[in-house]
Amino acid sequence: MIKNAFTVDLEDWYQGIEMPYDSWGSYEKRVEVGMNKLIQLLSDSNTKATFFTLGWIAEKYPKMIKLLADQGHELASHGYSHEKVYNLKPETFREEIRKTKSIIENLTGTNIVAYRAPFFSITVDSLWALPILREEGHTIDCSISPVKTWRYGISSAPDHIFRIPDVDMIEFPVSTFTLMGKALALGGAYFRLFPYMISQGAYKKRVSKDAFSMFYIHPWEYDEDHPYEEKMERKARFTHYHNLKKTYKNTERLLSQFNFGTVSETITNYTATSQLTDLKLNDLHD
Ligand SMILES: [Zn+2]
Repeated sequence: MIKNAFTVDLEDWYQGIEMPYDSWGSYEKRVEVGMNKLIQLLSDSNTKATFFTLGWIAEKYPKMIKLLADQGHELASHGYSHEKVYNLKPETFREEIRKTKSIIENLTGTNIVAYRAPFFSITVDSLWALPILREEGHTIDCSISPVKTWRYGISSAPDHIFRIPDVDMIEFPVSTFTLMGKALALGGAYFRLFPYMISQGAYKKRVSKDAFSMFYIHPWEYDEDHPYEEKMERKARFTHYHNLKKTYKNTERLLSQFNFGTVSETITNYTATSQLTDLKLNDLHD
């Protein structure tokens, strides 16, 4: 039974470093470089993944989105402008998710039910987004991180799938592991910054506890040659660029050692075997 979700936030490198929406046109377009490698890795290991896709990317690369759907991957929403949810007005957030859902649905003919916020930006300051997501037809959210960083995180969020009864949504938070007493997220930059053995150890431990896990990555993490942007805060630049050349090999090893599937498939397996915990919106606090 598949207990691990493999998720990709489908965006280009300049979106991953917080370049504003109105500047996107000026950057070198490279999303296909990383995507070609990632699609090959997934295909070689016969893995189906969930792609949280920016509406803007879906508009610009319709063939890529259709290919993913044809290959059996799950398409989901990553919003439109890549602005952090806590910086958006609720009306703008609603417009973005409505637009993105409709773009991807028109391309794939599938129903988009899952959402992930840019930079996991559903925090205690933006919980207002969850009722809006539900009203706009999303039933699964993957935007909460139980690990607090300078950008995101909700300290009281559990590290397992749960239900938010007020909004009738399922939350699949980022999975965590502990390294030298510090809680860290399992995926993205952490997957590159530490040696592979650290991720492997974390997964082995989770498997031994029968835990379900959420892994996340981005196409630009498979493109070590993408342009280097100097005008960035130092910690943001480090987490974006460090060890990019290791992502491919690390992912190959991860996929050969553990089984991964889509978010929907993983949640279905979880609910078939475990009682869902209910956590109300008020239970989510720092
Ligand atoms: Zn993103």
